Amino acid sequence: MAPGTPPASVVIVGAGQGGFQTAASLREYGHTGRITLISAEDALPYERPPLSKAFLKDDTYLEGGAPLWLRPATYYVRQDIDLVAGTVTALDRAARTVRLADGSAYAYDHLVLATGARPRTLGVPGSGLRGVHTLRTARDAAALRQSLGAARRAVVVGAGFIGLEFASVARESGCEVTVVEACDRPLARAASARTAAYFARLHRDAGTRLLCGHGVAAVHGNGRGGVSEVELTDGRPLPADLVLTGVGVTPNTELAAAAGLVVDGGIAVDSRLLTDDPRISAVGDCAAFPQVRSGNRLRLESVQNAVGHARLVAERLTGAPSSRTYDELPWFWSDQFSTTLRIAGVDERHDAEVVLGEGPDAFSVLLFDGDELSAVESVNRTGDHLAARRLLSERVPLGPGEASAPGFTLKKHLAARRRGAAVPFD
Ligand SMILES: Cc1cc2nc3c(=O)[nH]c(=O)nc-3n(C[C@H](O)[C@H](O)[C@H](O)COP(=O)(O)OP(=O)(O)OC[C@H]3O[C@@H](n4cnc5c(N)ncnc54)[C@H](O)[C@@H]3O)c2cc1C
Repeated sequence: MAPGTPPASVVIVGAGQGGFQTAASLREYGHTGRITLISAEDALPYERPPLSKAFLKDDTYLEGGAPLWLRPATYYVRQDIDLVAGTVTALDRAARTVRLADGSAYAYDHLVLATGARPRTLGVPGSGLRGVHTLRTARDAAALRQSLGAARRAVVVGAGFIGLEFASVARESGCEVTVVEACDRPLARAASARTAAYFARLHRDAGTRLLCGHGVAAVHGNGRGGVSEVELTDGRPLPADLVLTGVGVTPNTELAAAAGLVVDGGIAVDSRLLTDDPRISAVGDCAAFPQVRSGNRLRLESVQNAVGHARLVAERLTGAPSSRTYDELPWFWSDQFSTTLRIAGVDERHDAEVVLGEGPDAFSVLLFDGDELSAVESVNRTGDHLAARRLLSERVPLGPGEASAPGFTLKKHLAARRRGAAVPFD
């Protein structure tokens, strides 16, 4: 295959958000060759965000999983996308084939690794007891939902997004909920201290016990294979009939590493999402890619990231100019109780912040790295989030001084800068 020639056959390993989108975008952008989408999960490709939210409480999600599907089964037939069930266990780069656990093999001209990530486990005694859950797949969510139906006391380990989203659902369903977090605050990896403090209050006001700065030493059983108690490292017992562990994920990089591809906190790709093998790309949660603003290699876990990566790879493989590099603005959302947090941009470090918004339950935190806006966290302020996405992706200059001026709004600033005028304040 000459450089720049569209590949006749594309094999995609992993049929989650990134893998599905790669296949869909390839067809949308005119790929006429073969597309094989290999799924380790016994389900049509589906979206994960509802798994920690609506799926747990809304009965419509129980109807055969259909509300989760990204497309119905007929779509794959119509689009001539060969959806194969199985786990890829080996990648032979010289022969350009992948081999599945059942021994079958698929040849590729281009391979896309979209293997996602898996939950980290607690690794303490008792982690395997019935009633101790992690949450990544629809199967996990179904088991969790079932446990939740019978639970009175839930302990959530980890106050990241998955843990807090589940905690809000569990509290709404009438459970006593305790959240245990090793860091001194929730959302330590994901949001500013100010936003985290808001969510800590939101959960505490709803009656959830939030224990920060605590580790888990063990999980104890009830003698019948089920969980009865979580023991903290200080010896404190927390009675529980359901435990959700949400302590982060490990990217699925083993296949890439075994094939000799560079792995650096994720499957290492360049700004075109190519690995160090020009016939292999990686997208989504498994891919560590250079962030445009800082140049740092970054791995993001979001729908936007997986979809954005997938589209760029599909664009490249269908013959678009290969020079386009991945420079999409990351954004993310989380729903807890009736509150929606939306984040635009990435806060790798900030030294100034400005808060916009009048009400205690609707505000935006603008985070600045020097004189540059790097991220905006909006709580119940959709307008701010949308304006922030534009400002950040268009790189509209904004410093903390300007943002602190009376009457400042992101929307007006965006409009004024687009007109090239001075920013009007009222
Ligand atoms: C409960 C939950 C809630 C979330 N909520 C939000 C949210 O509110 N907003 C947001 O932006 N993001 C959210 N996310 C994150 C988002 O869903 C992920 O970032 C996104 O799914 C990543 O897509 P992906 O294709 O990289 O990985 P995945 O969707 O995880 O897909 C990877 C697939 O690859 C398969 N696979 C792995 N190895 C192999 C192999 N060797 N052979 C074959 N198949 C393989 C896996 O089984 C999996 O099906 C949430 C995630 C979870 C789990």
